[in-house]
Amino acid sequence: MVAPFTELYVTNTKSGMMTSDLAIEWLEKVFMPVVPKDSVLILDGWPGWKRMIEENTVNSKNLEFVVLPDGTTSKLQPLDLCFNRQLKNFIRKLETQIRYTHSNIIIARRERQLQIVQYILNQFKAPRYKGLMERGFFLNQILDKRPAYFETPDQYCMNVKATGGKLCANCRQFSYCKCSYPTCGILICASCALEHLHP
Ligand SMILES: [Zn+2]
Ligand SMILES: [Zn+2]
Repeated sequence: MVAPFTELYVTNTKSGMMTSDLAIEWLEKVFMPVVPKDSVLILDGWPGWKRMIEENTVNSKNLEFVVLPDGTTSKLQPLDLCFNRQLKNFIRKLETQIRYTHSNIIIARRERQLQIVQYILNQFKAPRYKGLMERGFFLNQILDKRPAYFETPDQYCMNVKATGGKLCANCRQFSYCKCSYPTCGILICASCALEHLHP
C-alpha cells in the first residue's frame, strides 16, 4: 500500500493494465462525486469504456458521453492537444532538478513518483492556468474563442528570473519553484515543493 494522497486516488490491477472494472471504479469513486450535472465526458475509442457508459449511476447527473472515432484521439482529445505535453514537460524538468540538487531523494520509488504527480496536479489547478485547460478545447474547435495568452506552468513556476539566487523559504537551499497560486508565490526548492499543497 502507499500513503494516502489528497490529490490522487491510488489503486492498481494485478496485470498493471487498464480494465473495465477499473473504469467503473474511477467513474463511481473519482468522477461522479465532483462532476457538475449535465456534463459531457469525452472518451477515446477504447472498448473497455462500454460497461462504464452503461452504469446507472451516470443518470443521477444526466451525463452525456462522446466517444472519439478510432485514430482521432491525438487530434480531438483536449488533454492530448495541450495539457499532457505540459504535464510531461514539467515532470521531466522537476525530476532533473531533484536528481541534480537532491541526490538523496530516490525518484524511482513509487511513493516519490506519486508525490511528484500530486504536487504538479495541485499547481496546475491554480487559476492562472485556466487557459491551459481551455486551449485543448479551442484547438479541437469546441471553443470558438482563443484563450488569452498565458505562461505555461514551467515558464511561470520554474522561471529562473524569479528563483535565481534566491533561497528556499523552507530549508534555505537554493529555490527552484515559485508557487503558482496568486495568494502564495512562495519560492521553494525542488524537494520542499513536493510537500507544498494548496487546499
Ligand atoms: Zn527547501
Ligand atoms: Zn503556494
